[in-house]
Amino acid sequence: MITCFPDPHPDEIFYSLCARYANRMKYSAKTAVTRDLFGSNAPLVNIAFPSRLGTLVANLPFFQHYTVDRLIDDHTLFPVFRPFLSSARLSDIRENMVGTNYSSVYTRVSTSIPLPNTEHLRFCPLCVEDDRIRWKECYWHRVHQIPGVKVCPIHRVFLQRTCNITRKGWHEYGFFSAESVVEQTSPMEVDCSDFCQSALLKVALDFAWLLNQHDLSCNPTFLRERYEMILTDRGFANRTSHEKFDIHRLMQEFKKYYPAHLLSMLSCELTEHERNNWLHRLLYGNNHQIHPLHHLLLIHFLGYNVETFNHLSGRRNPFGNGPWPCLNPVSQHYRQRVINDCSISKTTLRGNRRPKGVFWCECGFVYSRIGPDTCEEDSFKIKYILQVGPVWEEALRRLWDDPTISLREMAKRLGLGRPALQCQATRLGLSFPRPGGLLLQPSLKKQIHLNGGLFNDQTRDHYRGSWLRAIQENPGIRVKALQKKYRQVYRWLYTHDRHWQKEHLPPRPQVRRTPVHFINWDERDRQTAKAVEEIVLQIKDPNNAPERITKISIFKRMEDGESLLRYLYGGKLPLTEKMLNNVIESAEEFMIRRIWWMRDRYLREKLALPMRSIFARQTGAENYKPSSKIREAFETAFQSLEAASTQK
Ligand SMILES: [Zn+2]
Ligand SMILES: [Zn+2]
Repeated sequence: MITCFPDPHPDEIFYSLCARYANRMKYSAKTAVTRDLFGSNAPLVNIAFPSRLGTLVANLPFFQHYTVDRLIDDHTLFPVFRPFLSSARLSDIRENMVGTNYSSVYTRVSTSIPLPNTEHLRFCPLCVEDDRIRWKECYWHRVHQIPGVKVCPIHRVFLQRTCNITRKGWHEYGFFSAESVVEQTSPMEVDCSDFCQSALLKVALDFAWLLNQHDLSCNPTFLRERYEMILTDRGFANRTSHEKFDIHRLMQEFKKYYPAHLLSMLSCELTEHERNNWLHRLLYGNNHQIHPLHHLLLIHFLGYNVETFNHLSGRRNPFGNGPWPCLNPVSQHYRQRVINDCSISKTTLRGNRRPKGVFWCECGFVYSRIGPDTCEEDSFKIKYILQVGPVWEEALRRLWDDPTISLREMAKRLGLGRPALQCQATRLGLSFPRPGGLLLQPSLKKQIHLNGGLFNDQTRDHYRGSWLRAIQENPGIRVKALQKKYRQVYRWLYTHDRHWQKEHLPPRPQVRRTPVHFINWDERDRQTAKAVEEIVLQIKDPNNAPERITKISIFKRMEDGESLLRYLYGGKLPLTEKMLNNVIESAEEFMIRRIWWMRDRYLREKLALPMRSIFARQTGAENYKPSSKIREAFETAFQSLEAASTQK
């Protein structure tokens, strides 16, 4: 039974408890502490993830109320890692901390960022002062030992390291209580106007917050979903590559945000290779080598802290939750949140597809906005007015006929530019020039173009008409082809009148099915066999140059020989097959036929007796010397030529 194990101070790291215990016991042998506490001769305790906690707690007196869970949750760095690892790995790590297997704990969280060891022990000079007043001694605070924490989140001063620990010889003992090594130094305040210093403070504050969260609902999936959502909203989503994000651009922005020396100070350098750095792994890879500090840096880059990030709801509407305001300046409900109908699509801008919302009000006013919203005021900014609606039109009619109101005033009241106003007036058939004015009707071109994305019924009818005509003039055309041929019309309708376009696509061309014929194979076989017979006679015709009789040479002379040959190999033409076996020639047979054909030609044309070697070359027999049959045929043929020439 361990009798003098100290009671913990707030946020004291487990290592500090052991060090204070070692101080109390005044052991001389360096392994005596660990043998006492954990029954092990290992001289050191892992600062971030101690192990053998089960053994320790079993040896502590009941009245001290120590439990393994309490030690892990309140006195180790486990809570800092908890939101970022999968539950399987968390329970693994927890199990290892209870048991003896601490090396595997290391490998389970190992990253490029080293876990703290005794040489990294840090303290805040102001915390030291406070602790000495309150507890009569100082101790190692947990939050100060987290990798990446460089400032005290409470006092906002830089943490310090004591050189007493690194001094030669000291490291052998392993346990140093803060009281025994900390020296009095003057604190150095964080300058919040400096970007790097305030970034360090943010990291420290977030880690301090994390340490105190016992039931955080974060997990790797949650984080990744939020990252995806925010990065998509910020235009980092990829359109072309198979990867979800434009990691190249993200890296550039990220490096612009965090100076290189800051990243290197935090051991979070980004390697040049885009696939092999932690930012890429954070978004795509498994969580194997991801450190909580990596997450914090990304979360801060995205403009959140862990707490606000954790409160983000999933699948957010980029325009916030409705209802949205009607922005028709002449309606009764101007700027009131009365619109419940919003359709969201993506802008077509390559490489930066931002969400586009179209808002339809009951007063007939339709406008669009580009998201995502970043503040409340964004929901009152119109990108384009798509339809003005009857309420607005009525107001225009009224103001148009009132000579006391200038066009400028009217434009201001109706929330539309003057050229667009004139076009609307034309569309409504209002009088030009208007009472008491000189204004002329705008040109047709202007009317059709209007200003910006606004359009009137005439424009729409023009494009609808062109579309329908195009379909009529190109019967059987597919949408893709139509889109290519009438690019502008297609594009305009796609952007402004998509619903109508969808309902007026060209009819799908009927797929022509090849009619199924029932083939009478016996008949086909008989016909083919007969054709083969005829073709063989044709090939053997002595008036033609000799050609070897093969399946190919026969079938290439038939009209649909290719498919017949397929049927033949498929076994559908047995009679033809039999016939072919009788007629096709081996190379030897063909050579012999060729020799006799050549001899007959000499006789027929009464040519002079050739030299033997020339006759051999002419017949091709010189290439077939090993074949006795060919030799024999050649000899016989040549002798008959000789005989014929002596007869002359
Ligand atoms: Zn402090
Ligand atoms: Zn409205």
